[in-house]
Amino acid sequence: LERLATTDGLTGLPNRRHFLGLASDEMARARRYGRPITVGIADLDHFKQVNDRFGHGVGDQVLQRFASVVLETLRETDRVGRFGGEEFAFIFPETLPDEALQLAGRLRQRLGESPVALPDGTLLAVTASFGLADATGQRLEESLAQADAALYEAKGSGRDRSVLATRAEAEASPQRV
Ligand code: GH3
Ligand code: MG
Ligand code: MG
Repeated sequence: LERLATTDGLTGLPNRRHFLGLASDEMARARRYGRPITVGIADLDHFKQVNDRFGHGVGDQVLQRFASVVLETLRETDRVGRFGGEEFAFIFPETLPDEALQLAGRLRQRLGESPVALPDGTLLAVTASFGLADATGQRLEESLAQADAALYEAKGSGRDRSVLATRAEAEASPQRV
């Protein structure tokens, strides 16, 4: 019962509520010890088209592939959850924003190397966009909102990229990578 209540059935990742609980625990720990911590949100690019062109089953496979690539790539201390439909949230304890940018880059690279095989044998590669925000000394909700604004910027500037929200003005002048 507890597993059902905390886990997303499709990907096996923590669901939104459970992720937020894990993330606030990490935030409390980082605050207590004065350690750096970074949050992120990823959203699959043009995912509606994947469903429309290849069917919902392939879409589901892509979501599962994304989850397994993430689990293979992240460190044990990093946390990820399925935040919404094709949206995933991350918390990187002991991690500076620039290091998180590198991690997101590695995730995008691995994703590119892990296409899903369609029934006819064709390989389907999917990309994702990432928004990241420094959560050190901040509130979780605020940091996630900044990461979301940075994600929006990543979408608007072409997708398949990561954007780090600047500390002062998350939306006004993000750093692009
Ligand atoms: P963008 O690059 O701007 O993010 O475009 P998008 O098409 O990914 O974004 P949009 O929000 O228009 O579409 C998201 C799609 O994700 C629509 C919905 O059908 C699909 N989706 C959400 N949850 C699931 C799921 O559990 N399985 C499958 N197969 N599709 C899902
Ligand atoms: Mg999307
Ligand atoms: Mg979305």
